[in-house]
Amino acid sequence: MQISLQQQVALVTGASSGLGEGAARALAAAGAAVVVNYNSHAEPAEKLVEEIRAAGGQAVAIGADVSQEEQVEKLFAQTLEHFGHLDILVANSGLQKDAPLVDMSLADWNTVINVNLTGQFLCARAALRQFISQGMRPGVSRAMGKIIHMSSVHQLIPWAGHANYAASKGGVDLLMRSIAQEVGEQHIRVNSIAPGAIRTAINQQAMQGDGEAKMLKLIPYGRVGEAEDVANAVVWLASDLSDYVHGTTLFIDGGMSLYPEFRGNG
Ligand code: NAD
Repeated sequence: MQISLQQQVALVTGASSGLGEGAARALAAAGAAVVVNYNSHAEPAEKLVEEIRAAGGQAVAIGADVSQEEQVEKLFAQTLEHFGHLDILVANSGLQKDAPLVDMSLADWNTVINVNLTGQFLCARAALRQFISQGMRPGVSRAMGKIIHMSSVHQLIPWAGHANYAASKGGVDLLMRSIAQEVGEQHIRVNSIAPGAIRTAINQQAMQGDGEAKMLKLIPYGRVGEAEDVANAVVWLASDLSDYVHGTTLFIDGGMSLYPEFRGNG
């Protein structure tokens, strides 16, 4: 079945690399006009925009730090200046600042919470305000708007040495479900994706040496994920094919959240 997102505008945060880049590319291939948000590196974002345009799509790169209220407001205002409306938000930006809890600095705690959780709040709020002010767009989508939060298997699985990250993603889960409960009646769909181990910059170090082999022990399906695995789910969640999917987290993890340590009777 072919998914078409023609006439829709998608904003993807943190789209200059990894899962955001993959999502932006896939949304554009499905026909959406795409805003490629980046934080500090404009060049890869501009390169992706060129690639999308060369393939006949529409895209623009806009810089903004998602943890800064004013910058988020500007990002959404610039999105409207370029494309006139907004239909899909993929709140993807995220980072890790790992340390055992006893060594974790308040600065690293705050950075992770500010980007991974407050950034999701600021972007979701701006998207909701825009969806509500523009109203339904009959013939374009059955929903008034769609929000996809990028969470992690660590919204469920505790993660020693990464307490700030796990706390931020646990927060994303209840943020997403609370928003979904709040705006469902307005036909705004809100869901999360919880990736497991997907090959991107965020876990490049963890995959080095025997890292990948160790990781595979945690993945019943027997392979590390690729950005495309997540991008395909983003496109589906953004489309009317998932119109009755609301307030849910889709785990894309090759079974990592199935407690694989219990294979062989634990
Ligand atoms: P990545 O490092 O390639 O991408 C993260 C993106 O977020 C980067 O483009 C970065 O510029 C952006 N970003 C960071 N701080 C920002 C800020 N203040 N404002 C705007 N953008 C900012 O890694 P990724 O794997 O593509 O991560 C994308 C999302 O997926 C993150 O939320 C991450 O937590 C989540 N995730 C990834 C995996 C995985 O295995 N790769 C697993 C679970 C969850």
